[in-house]
Amino acid sequence: MADLFDKFDPAIAEVLALSGNRAANPVGIVMDEVHSPTEATINGRPTILAGTYNYMGLTFHPEVIAAGQQALAQFGSGTTGSRVLNGTYSGHKALERTLADFYGVAHAMVFSTGYQANLGICSTLVGKGEYILLDADSHASIYDGCALGTADIVRFKHNDPADLDKRLGRLPADAGKLVVVEGVYSMLGDVGRLTELCAVARRHGAMILDDEAHAMGFFGAHGRGVFEEQGADVDFVVGTFSKSVGTVGGFCVSNHPKFEILRLLCRPYVFTASLPPSVVATARRAIELIATACADKRAQLWRATKRLHGGLIDLGFRLGTDKPESAIVAILMPDQETTIAAWTRLLEAGVYVNMARPPATPAGMYLLRMSVCAEHSDAQVAAILRLCFRARARGRGRGARRRVNVA
Ligand code: PMP
Repeated sequence: MADLFDKFDPAIAEVLALSGNRAANPVGIVMDEVHSPTEATINGRPTILAGTYNYMGLTFHPEVIAAGQQALAQFGSGTTGSRVLNGTYSGHKALERTLADFYGVAHAMVFSTGYQANLGICSTLVGKGEYILLDADSHASIYDGCALGTADIVRFKHNDPADLDKRLGRLPADAGKLVVVEGVYSMLGDVGRLTELCAVARRHGAMILDDEAHAMGFFGAHGRGVFEEQGADVDFVVGTFSKSVGTVGGFCVSNHPKFEILRLLCRPYVFTASLPPSVVATARRAIELIATACADKRAQLWRATKRLHGGLIDLGFRLGTDKPESAIVAILMPDQETTIAAWTRLLEAGVYVNMARPPATPAGMYLLRMSVCAEHSDAQVAAILRLCFRARARGRGRGARRRVNVA
């Protein structure tokens, strides 16, 4: 019998290299306890969380928790069914109305994750003989949606309207086309040039899907995302509840008059169970709070982001963006070994950040990636900066001279 696992040997060796003999490894972190949006206990140690997507810090909001508890008691722990069978409760419809109102559009479709929203919309909307043009740095869920569908795939250079223009110009003028962009790109934290990209797409008669996963809540006058802030004209917005909204789930909103048909055609919507009522209720309350009561949180988030970004630049780190563009602040690292060593030192000192590496990252980059939360205090940001400085200093001190330009 040929062992189907043999082909995973290189991956197994890589995981061993990542974990070594250390107590913790970047792909095996366990949160023993979570105390607040910014604090947890990891390996028995109090730890500042600087690598979550809890941008607005709503996970412990008393009204969000109360909404979830009430729905849990009233509707039970799960729906045990698909949205198109027994899995649509009044809460799912109420959440879709809340989302449509939040985005000022006619239609909203709630999926069980943001991953499934991209998977479903990209694979269903664009079919045989049609084209998806996607940014080279697109999230995995967009790539996977393309792989699941039957459209022809064309990649354009990251955030490059001229390259998009060139590639659209080579396609048949009357073929269906979807251009996929993102408000904030999640690895380096850079913002999409949506106004220019959308203008190019429109000139070539393409529809536009915009993933605002990392921008919802704090970009644009209503918190809709970067497209709102830039005044870009998009046809579909995909988003997630797993970041600013603080729970789990995904969605797509649109004004297209035929949008509702997707509910019956999107396989990642039809062939999976719907979100539990408690999750739906927490998402709805969080979105209502974002719409009505989070102006101060937005201001806090930007203040903390600027302090962290500016502080790291002052310490001489090289970051994913020269200026703070979003709440993602990524330190560029030279290689895996140095990155793991610095990541471990930070964790031991009481700060959790994400270690990001290929294939998640563009151009084979290694990153210590932080994301800021509105609830990060000045003292926590100061502590993160101090410990980043020390983590690097100790790396140099241990004879790692060739790594002087660690970051
Ligand atoms: N789109 C982007 C840009 C993302 O970064 C992510 C998750 N990190 C998703 C979609 C998927 O979201 P979810 O966690 O809801 O599956």
